[in-house]
Amino acid sequence: MEKTDLLLKNIDWLITMNGDRQIIKDGALAIRGDRILDIGKSSILSQNYSAGVELDCRDKVVVPGLIDAHVHSAFQMSRGLADEVGDQAFLFERMYPYEGCLDDEDTYWSATLCGLELLKHGVTCFIDPGNYEIEQTARAVEKAGMRCVLSKSSLDIAKSAYGSLPAKFIETTDQCLERSEDLIKRWHGKADGRMRVFLSFRGLNNSTDALITGMKQLADKYRTGVQSHCAFAQKTRDASIAKYGLGEVERLQKLGVLGSNMVLAHLGWLNPKELLLLKEYEVKGVACPSSSLHNGYGNLKMNTIPLLLEMGVPIGLGSDHASSGIIDITLEMLLVATTLKEIRLDPKIMSPETVLEMATVNGAQCALWEDEIGSLEIGKKADVTIFDTLRPEWQPLYANPLVNLVYSATGSSVDTVIVDGKILLEKGQALTIDEEEVYAKVKAISGKILKKTNLAEKIRPLWPIV
Ligand SMILES: [Zn+2]
Repeated sequence: MEKTDLLLKNIDWLITMNGDRQIIKDGALAIRGDRILDIGKSSILSQNYSAGVELDCRDKVVVPGLIDAHVHSAFQMSRGLADEVGDQAFLFERMYPYEGCLDDEDTYWSATLCGLELLKHGVTCFIDPGNYEIEQTARAVEKAGMRCVLSKSSLDIAKSAYGSLPAKFIETTDQCLERSEDLIKRWHGKADGRMRVFLSFRGLNNSTDALITGMKQLADKYRTGVQSHCAFAQKTRDASIAKYGLGEVERLQKLGVLGSNMVLAHLGWLNPKELLLLKEYEVKGVACPSSSLHNGYGNLKMNTIPLLLEMGVPIGLGSDHASSGIIDITLEMLLVATTLKEIRLDPKIMSPETVLEMATVNGAQCALWEDEIGSLEIGKKADVTIFDTLRPEWQPLYANPLVNLVYSATGSSVDTVIVDGKILLEKGQALTIDEEEVYAKVKAISGKILKKTNLAEKIRPLWPIV
């Protein structure tokens, strides 16, 4: 018998997401160090390996660690601050004033709270579009033991047709580029390889051509990615056409920056030519269903996501921010599947298989990390999410765990999470984050934020509080 570190055995359903998309019934997974050593039938692996830690996964569904391909960890403290407002007021009257008042300590605890919610819902890796205290985000993620793509947020046009930025955000183009490059030097490949750094211009309408091209050049120089929000609202599209005479993706093409290391979130308000450009230049995209549904952006209504998927453009899934409520990729799978079926009047348009690909293998492509994560295969990183099916919403489970996962389950049925071969969540309890400490800090910080942003009157219920 060969010795190994961790053996998951008697797995009821092991969904590998490998090239053939094999689902192993009564499966097992052997892990050595941070990588998958072997995968197959439990009857065989149990005979071949003895492990320091063995997990009996009877009544469990095991999937590759879920990937949230777009979530602002600095917005985790904004839940309840920006409901029932349009896209422009959402950003410029609620979210930017909120973010503008965060100090380094607030950002650290916001990221820790975000990490806690992601972990408890089975997310092992996330892509963060960035903030202005990103060092604190890096610290929080490193301590939590998660995998992450970080960015320093950058915008170099303080006032656009779309709105004006708070003082804290205002930087010159050179400052944006220098500070982003500095973050790459300090954090890219750090935390035992769990951290990567992308470039991030946060929105096209507040970014000069020089910033966008400079970021793409840095991404190419360091062989990493560049991300942005793109075409998320009718107004961002209209502002782009008013100023540049081009849609947002058309402008990126004119600047010569479209490429396979570019990741664009939302991708709702696009014209047909822009869809073809995304395919031609092998750009990656991220759908953010709860964000669009909560704020009425119309990204799903525009029907671009199924079209891009049908064209073979890799589209990941993102929860975007806690200000839209949900930080749960399992719920995002339900939302993207069902909303698009309704819009297209087609029950087959978004299958459970397609949406699980979005949350795993496609997310890995968005992180430019598909060689190591996104599927459970020998030699890949041991990032694993285990769902407990002994819960009412998982019962009965006949012959297809994918339908129970997508249409019935939520992230709350996640039992165990493993990143880099280390157990970070066990029986639903986080091992690397002190939950009680987090809730105490959040309470103190949220009181401070409410005073600083002066939003108390705007966010109270319509009904009297007595
Ligand atoms: Zn976003």
